[in-house]
Amino acid sequence: MADSSEFTLAVDIGGTTIKAGIVDKQGKIIEKRSENTPGAQDNTAFLNSLGSILDFLFSRHGLPSSVGIGSPGPLDIQKGKIISSANMPAIRDCNIVEFVQKKINNPNIPVHLDNDANCAGLGQLYFGMGRGHDNFAVFTLGTGVGGGLILEKNIFRGYNGNGFEIGHIPVLDMALMDLLQNKKLTIRRCGCSAMGCLETFSSAMAVSENYHSLLHAGSPPLGKSTEKLTAREIADLARGNDENAQLSYQIAGHALGLAITSVTHLLNLPLFILTGGMAGAGDLLKPHIQKVVQSRVFPVFKNRLEIVFTEGDADSGILGAAGLGHAIR
Ligand SMILES: [Zn+2]
Repeated sequence: MADSSEFTLAVDIGGTTIKAGIVDKQGKIIEKRSENTPGAQDNTAFLNSLGSILDFLFSRHGLPSSVGIGSPGPLDIQKGKIISSANMPAIRDCNIVEFVQKKINNPNIPVHLDNDANCAGLGQLYFGMGRGHDNFAVFTLGTGVGGGLILEKNIFRGYNGNGFEIGHIPVLDMALMDLLQNKKLTIRRCGCSAMGCLETFSSAMAVSENYHSLLHAGSPPLGKSTEKLTAREIADLARGNDENAQLSYQIAGHALGLAITSVTHLLNLPLFILTGGMAGAGDLLKPHIQKVVQSRVFPVFKNRLEIVFTEGDADSGILGAAGLGHAIR
C-alpha cells in the first residue's frame, strides 16, 4: 500500500464511463478502474457506480492526499455539482464533490471538480507535453472541441470557470468558404446554435459528417461507405489517398490553423498541444494547420510557435483529473 501523501485519486467522468485511477506525483497511474454509466442512470445510480469504484481503490491503496474530478459541463465548480450531462439526461444537479467528501470523511483531503478541458490543461502542465512551460493552450479534439489555457503555470478559468471555450469561436475565412462552396458542403449549425464554430469543422464528428456529405455529393456510395465512418477510419482512408477523406482533414486542419492564429495574436503563446481522439491524425492535420499559421501569423510570433500532438489518449482523462488533484494538494 502506497503512502497516502504520495498519490491523488483522479476521477474522469466520460460520456459513457466513469474512470478512476490512483496516480502518483510523477503522473504514473498505479491502478485504475472503470464502470459503464448507462444513459438512463439518475443521480443515485450514477453515484452508486462511482462509490463502488472508490470503495475498491480505497480498500487497496488507502485514502489519497487529494481528489481531482474532471467532467464535461455544464458544472457548478464552486458548489462541486454536475448541473447536467448531455449523455446522461437523467443526471441533474448532482453533488459529486459532496458525495466523494462523505465517502472519504476527512476534511483535510481536498476534493475538486473542474471541466474536462481545464483538467486536460493541468494534466499536460504537470505530466504531459506542457512540463517546463509557463504558457500554453491545449485543444481537446474529440466528439466536440474543448480547450484549456495555462497562463503563468496556472489554469485560466475566467470569472465563472467557463473560459477558453475554443470550440465555439468562429473560424471562417474566404479560403475555407471557397473550399466548402466548391465541394457543395453546407456550413452546419453548431450545437451552441451559432454558425462557423471551430467545433463544426475540426471535431471528430465534423470530420465524419463532412466525409459523409462529400461522398454523397460525388459518386454513389458503395459498401461500407454507405455507413457513417469514424474520424479514425477516415484518417486511414486519407493516408490511402482517398480524396474525400483528405479533404475532410484539410477542412479540419485549416479551421484549427485559423483558431491557433487568433489565439496567438491574442495571447502570444509559444505552445499549442492538440490532444483527444483526433490527435492520432496529427500527420494529416499539421500540414494544413501550418499552411494557415505560416501565412497568417505575424512574423514576430513565429520564431517560437510550436504545435504538437499527444500520442495515445486512453488515459488522458485520468491524467487530466490527476493534474487538478496535483494543483490543489
Ligand atoms: Zn458553437
